[in-house]
Amino acid sequence: MAILLGAIADDFTGATDLANTLVKKGMNTVQLIGVPDSENWADDVDAVVVALKTRTIPAPDAVAESLAALRWIQRQGARQVFFKYCSTFDSTDAGNIGPVTDALLTGLDEDLTIACPAFPTNGRTVFKGHLFVGDELLSDSGMRNHPLTPMTDSNLVRVLGRQTTSSVGLVPREIVAKGAESIRTAFSALREQNVHHAIVDAVDDADLLAIGTAVAGLKLVTGGSGVALGLPENFRRAGLLGEAVAPEPPRVNGLHAVLSGSCSIRTREQVEMMKKTRPGYLIDPLALHDGKDVVAHVREWAKDHIGTGPVLIYSSADADEVGRVQNQIGRDHAGDLIEQAMGRIAQGLVEDGVRRLIVAGGETSGAVVKALGIKALHIGPEIDPGVPWTETVGDEPLALALKSGNFGGVDFFEKAFKMLS
Ligand code: ADP
Repeated sequence: MAILLGAIADDFTGATDLANTLVKKGMNTVQLIGVPDSENWADDVDAVVVALKTRTIPAPDAVAESLAALRWIQRQGARQVFFKYCSTFDSTDAGNIGPVTDALLTGLDEDLTIACPAFPTNGRTVFKGHLFVGDELLSDSGMRNHPLTPMTDSNLVRVLGRQTTSSVGLVPREIVAKGAESIRTAFSALREQNVHHAIVDAVDDADLLAIGTAVAGLKLVTGGSGVALGLPENFRRAGLLGEAVAPEPPRVNGLHAVLSGSCSIRTREQVEMMKKTRPGYLIDPLALHDGKDVVAHVREWAKDHIGTGPVLIYSSADADEVGRVQNQIGRDHAGDLIEQAMGRIAQGLVEDGVRRLIVAGGETSGAVVKALGIKALHIGPEIDPGVPWTETVGDEPLALALKSGNFGGVDFFEKAFKMLS
């Protein structure tokens, strides 16, 4: 059966964020890690999100990878394509939002799309084409100092205009507030002016839903996960999607473990909480540096402790401790050593029967997913905002929750496992 929506995301956690939004609105969704090499990943799903890592790579590479994802999505018969980027419009004058959008428009033989990063729930709003982060303009927010994509201009018409040779227009709030019909009329006017990209203002969820309705006829929609809120309803109205049913938690039995390589404040609180009642093993980066076989030791330790309930394996440490380690062995080297160790520990745990696994940390999650050779995740119910349970697609499925650093309540780990019992 053909899919309804095919999405291309420019990073991994952004892909999960989008997939989670679509699931909450009743679309059965699979997240793919990179462009798949076979066709059968999209069987019996409404939406597929292809997670790429193209946000900061050279623009020609980002275009090539995005087009490969597009071709795969087109083979699955998608009725609409979504290009997902960050709600702070993370990009540079070289790209990659403009070049990738242009290539997707050409690939879809379409002449107009929208660009709407607004996500009011998370404080991202667009007004008169200017992106706000909370009460501040994007260019006054912390994003101005981002190491890879410093955002020093809040005017998205200008920002996107520097990334594309085609013209960029604006659908202002006063039109958006009047509803979907007015927005569609504005699209027609922009088309007549030969505009290919429409920045669309949105300051609340009602705006996003109106925009969602208005874009039903566009082959390509681009933006943050907020604007995807309104898309499932279009398919429902067209009789292509059933009523929203709450997704089931993964039905996977086996041992439980948490791997935490995140040093973010919230994760450290979660680790402290779990340590009070469950066995914990602290990974010492300096022992890894000294060549000690920490991975084998952790595996033996886990075998002794895991029978009765989840175990916690963590390197999470406070800023002083992290600084001390980084001064001794270098920041990147410390990160690499721990990520590699976490990947190998995950492999060992799975070999020893772990089937319910939580990973804390964005980079750590990437390393674990790679080490386990995971190609696709079926997105399940949300545990806490932005973090769903997922089930890996394949012969021996795992229940897997990938949590970025500052997400989740303090009792996240126990809460997550309780949902599976
Ligand atoms: P978050 O989502 O909180 O940013 P990440 O996993 O993305 O977490 O990033 C944490 C980084 O810190 C990883 O590269 C990890 O390997 C590294 N790290 C984890 N523990 C330590 C530690 N004790 N000392 C130094 N670096 C660490």
